[in-house]
Amino acid sequence: MTSSSNPNFKQLRVAIVGGGLGGLSAAVALRRAGHLVEIYERRDFNVEVGASISCAANGTQWLREWEVDIPDMKPVILMKLVMRDWETGKILNQYNLDYYEKEWGNVYNMLHRQDMHATLLKAATSSEGKGTPCAVNIDHICHSVDAEAGTVTFQNGVTVKADLIIGADGIRSVVRSQIGVVPDIKSAPQTCYRVNLKKSVVDALGLVKYSYDPAIQFWGGVQGNNGRSKYYKIVMSPCSGGEIVSFYCFMPTELTKHHEEGFTFAEVPVSDVIAGKYDELDPDCVNLLKNSVDRMPWRLYVHQAYTHWFKGNTCVLGDAAHPMMPHQSQGACQAIEDAAALGIIFSDKYDFTQDVNAGLAMYETIRKPRATRVQSASARATENLNERIGFTSLTPHDASLAATEGKLTINEMNSYKMHDHISSEVAGERNAVNAA
Ligand SMILES: Cc1cc2nc3c(=O)[nH]c(=O)nc-3n(C[C@H](O)[C@H](O)[C@H](O)COP(=O)(O)OP(=O)(O)OC[C@H]3O[C@@H](n4cnc5c(N)ncnc54)[C@H](O)[C@@H]3O)c2cc1C
Repeated sequence: MTSSSNPNFKQLRVAIVGGGLGGLSAAVALRRAGHLVEIYERRDFNVEVGASISCAANGTQWLREWEVDIPDMKPVILMKLVMRDWETGKILNQYNLDYYEKEWGNVYNMLHRQDMHATLLKAATSSEGKGTPCAVNIDHICHSVDAEAGTVTFQNGVTVKADLIIGADGIRSVVRSQIGVVPDIKSAPQTCYRVNLKKSVVDALGLVKYSYDPAIQFWGGVQGNNGRSKYYKIVMSPCSGGEIVSFYCFMPTELTKHHEEGFTFAEVPVSDVIAGKYDELDPDCVNLLKNSVDRMPWRLYVHQAYTHWFKGNTCVLGDAAHPMMPHQSQGACQAIEDAAALGIIFSDKYDFTQDVNAGLAMYETIRKPRATRVQSASARATENLNERIGFTSLTPHDASLAATEGKLTINEMNSYKMHDHISSEVAGERNAVNAA
């Protein structure tokens, strides 16, 4: 049992399907809120891989609120967004983040996915820190969910019952289909290879020109003068305390032979990565790519917003709820925001632990509009790099490439106050009930 000043607060048994960044964030948030959390993950965490993950102020804020050990994630604090010409590497535009922390109270962290995952796992399961340590069950592949009965059945034959079930099982979510969501998906015109480069290799080869800046650097991403497709784009950023330089290499989908959505755990030769118009790419950048490791395909699909995010006592979160193109670097932050919303809604500040279904309706009300807005802005940024948060606040180097009306801004992302939003929605609901 947990002590609470709210007599209506009830400790919930929470089952989280999927132990990725979103599932672990939800585990930490709900543990801090006083619940008993079990995570069910399909595989061993030893196979965790990844490259850089952006944790902008809107994600960092929650890691701090949950007292997660951010330095343990070996962050690189971002100071710039730099847009470069595809062929020459010349700077076309630059967004400085010198004032970022002062303005929004939190820094923009660049993290390696493995580091972030390991620290979140520690925060969820450690005997230190507020709340009951979460239990983790690996080798549990979700087979089905009964959202009304509150049960999850795994392929190994185990069935568990919980007061709240969270589907954090990623882009190919089983829980999503179990709550009746039928995704409207189409193949993206652009496919990505994700590759890493060790700092020691950069040093040994003397390829230091771009690699040490605490910056996200972009090449391409707009229609080229020579007819080169806007789907050619490189995103380069440091992570893991600067020991790794990570690249996302995009190209038109028709040039690649990878079809399965999401990450594929299969090394590809560098020739797959530097195909097509990569022979026209800034030679300094090509040199870095030629010495990369961990080269894996990331096949992208565009999802329209889903009809709903919950049924009975079961909801979806993160990529299971709002898969998005990676061009706003907000996939992890939006999953963290989902987790934060669940932690607040099911805290002792409100009475939703008495009615989980009503709490999940509030979760959808709070989270779906904002996540959907980021999801559509990510799709727009596929077509034009000037639609990316940060660059939307600059004058574009070419006026014809200006972002559209309704563009997403860095201020909108970082000045959002979720506690206030939930509090005013709850008050609005109470007033509506009282008036009826
Ligand atoms: C291996 C991997 C590497 C990634 N690398 C990067 C990267 O380098 N850069 C980047 O920007 N984004 C990366 N991502 C995506 C990014 O982490 C997510 O977009 C974002 O963090 C949202 O997190 P999520 O928890 O919703 O989904 P995910 O992080 O994808 O986590 C989903 C979890 O659910 C588990 N799962 C799936 N199906 C089942 C099932 N049926 N039963 C039980 N468990 C299940 C998966 O094994 C996974 O651990 C990666 C994702 C994965 C899984």
